[in-house]
Amino acid sequence: MRALLLNKEPTFNASVSAIAAPVLSAGDVRVEIDYSTLNYKDGLAITNAAPVVRLWPMVAGIDGAGTVLESQHPDWKAGDAFVLNGWGVGETHWGCLAEQACLKGDWLVRRPAAFSARQAMAIGTAGYTAMLCVMALERHGVQPVDGEVLVTGASGGVGSVAVALLSSLGYRVVASTGKLAEAAYLQALGAHEVIDRAALSAAGKPMQAERWAAVVDSVGSHTLANALAQTRYGGAVAACGLAQGRDLPTTVVPFILRNVALLGVDSVMAPRALRQTAWDRLARDLDSNKLESMVEEVSLDQAVEKAQALMAGQVRGRIVVKIAAN
Ligand code: NDP
Repeated sequence: MRALLLNKEPTFNASVSAIAAPVLSAGDVRVEIDYSTLNYKDGLAITNAAPVVRLWPMVAGIDGAGTVLESQHPDWKAGDAFVLNGWGVGETHWGCLAEQACLKGDWLVRRPAAFSARQAMAIGTAGYTAMLCVMALERHGVQPVDGEVLVTGASGGVGSVAVALLSSLGYRVVASTGKLAEAAYLQALGAHEVIDRAALSAAGKPMQAERWAAVVDSVGSHTLANALAQTRYGGAVAACGLAQGRDLPTTVVPFILRNVALLGVDSVMAPRALRQTAWDRLARDLDSNKLESMVEEVSLDQAVEKAQALMAGQVRGRIVVKIAAN
């Protein structure tokens, strides 16, 4: 099969190679991948910018969508449509930037009928994480009447889907971006206002004028600290990313004086039931026209170059990777 293989001997190398298809073992399913995608973590792995890969050589690709070919798992049979996100796939287990993969049946989610494999990968881990963030805010009790919701890293994958989802759900969304040239794109996704991320990315006071009822943050560092400092009394911030940095230079003040909640969001090890709920919600709440406006499609052969562009901040929205050569 053709696969995007990552090697570290003699030096790091990422290239599309012909390799033997993986062998099915107990509890696994063998799947045909129609589409995969490039998330931030795929960018890190494919450019070797961070130690994402723990086992070498590795087939890249943390997400996949396609059809079950063969199953040794009671929940899955040949012909079933699936989505796979995370679980260490592409990190410790061969991934989905490949024509086939062997995956644990427990890891797969049923692909909602509303989505083609391409649409499922247009959403990918980034979009499913955006949904997990929205669900975390809802569990906290956030509602559209509460006020403005800030989305940081808005032109990125998580950010674009979060803007589209929140706007469809009736929230007044403020999009923070470093790409002000993408203001019209973000407004078309549903942003009421677009602000320059420079207003949030420098060191600031731990308590500032109250503005946000809630925040979806994929950026971390000073941006997250400032978002917390500007969140209104009793509001909530869903934090899922570290595009600016993994640090969080703040104090306890927003938590103990403003009753602000910081909600951590992880997609990789999220339980299966929560994943299925998130995917079913995406099928209900995500506007398919908005989703299409986020997408750029590339071939498997173009994936390395696109991963480099993603890491260089030159990508808007979501990239889907078509696996079949034609
Ligand atoms: P993308 O690369 O698509 O988007 C990231 C966006 O962050 C960029 O488009 C840019 O948006 C903004 N950004 C980039 N660099 C900086 C910087 N130095 N300072 C401020 N903003 C910056 O990535 P994804 O959307 O796929 O992922 C976003 C983050 O979320 C990543 O850190 C990723 O690891 C994390 N993530 C976490 C998950 C989890 O399970 N917790 C799952 C999925 C993603 P703009 O130009 O609009 O400002």
